[in-house]
Amino acid sequence: MPGDYYDILGVDRNASKEDLKKAYRRLARKYHPDVNKEPGAEERFKEINRAYEVLSEPETRSRYDQFGEAGVSGAGGFNYGDMGDMGGFADIFETIFSGFGGGMGTGGTRRRTGPTKGDDLRLDLKLDFREAVFGGEKEIRIPHLETCQVCKGDGAKPGTGAKTCSTCNGQGQVRRATRTPFGSFAQVSTCPACNGQGQVIEEKCEVCNGAGRRQVTEKVKITIPAGVDDGTRLRVSRKGDAGLRGGPPGDLYVYLYVEPDKVFTRDKMNILSEITISYLQAILGCTVTVDTVDGEQELTIPAGTQPNTVLTLENLGVPKLGNDAIRGDHLITVKVDIPTRINAEERELLEKLAHIKGQSHGKGGLEGFLGSLFHK
Ligand SMILES: [Zn+2]
Ligand SMILES: [Zn+2]
Repeated sequence: MPGDYYDILGVDRNASKEDLKKAYRRLARKYHPDVNKEPGAEERFKEINRAYEVLSEPETRSRYDQFGEAGVSGAGGFNYGDMGDMGGFADIFETIFSGFGGGMGTGGTRRRTGPTKGDDLRLDLKLDFREAVFGGEKEIRIPHLETCQVCKGDGAKPGTGAKTCSTCNGQGQVRRATRTPFGSFAQVSTCPACNGQGQVIEEKCEVCNGAGRRQVTEKVKITIPAGVDDGTRLRVSRKGDAGLRGGPPGDLYVYLYVEPDKVFTRDKMNILSEITISYLQAILGCTVTVDTVDGEQELTIPAGTQPNTVLTLENLGVPKLGNDAIRGDHLITVKVDIPTRINAEERELLEKLAHIKGQSHGKGGLEGFLGSLFHK
């Protein structure tokens, strides 16, 4: 797993561009695989490059600061996995350090293969309980990379073109001699400077600094379907990062978080809540008003309702995701409130009642009476 990019470069989070550059140069020279043959050095070198690549661009740096590795994953130019294919020591250093004048990692040194699909992005969105139940339109702000309108994504300053790559003299390939116990082999590989195109950008587009893409925040209205739940993932197609060199944009994945409600909880398609009635209402039965996601409803409590009885209001639950004609139920748990204190008059009446009940049940006293009602 990659560590923190600032730690990898040994700089603090407020490091200036100049600090980063210095730290990078020092470490890149130390761990360069052509120089340092210790085990792990190459891995370290790749990490250093990756960290610098991300932190040297204000755009990717701010995304890294905000979202960490996830904000920049997949983004980037060099494919360090191919390090061994590059030319000798001199070639690599030329390639790596030639970009220092104008910011490395983009522009001339970026690999220019064919169209590349943009990255998929993730966005977390909070919904309140009712929004998740009924769905609806929601306006969200998506920070993503868009194709630069000025250079149309090719990274070249308008009116300028591409010039012949100086690393390979326009050949698109570089030669390298590899010595092995079996003899010397000439290895031809793709030019890392122009990525085999034979040409590099003459002058960078000033708006996007040659990247061909720009970080923007777009406002988009998305439709939340009825019946979504905590953890539901919605895909908003083509709202990820713009592609490179005419490649299609990635997708945006919206992860939904449903905030807890004060009154309702949810069990898949059923909505649960509680009401509290008095012991007299429980014994005699009554009609009460209860809150549902559709507003207030009348609920009939039958006479003799026991504590923790669950009563059902049909079709007032959560709509089925993808078919909101079908709905779950609203289940109401009935709590019975037994008073801890009663006045003299109530006591007298209850004692009288208990006396009657006591004769038929063979138990006396108020306690026996209430016990016989609620503790079966
Ligand atoms: Zn541009
Ligand atoms: Zn080249």
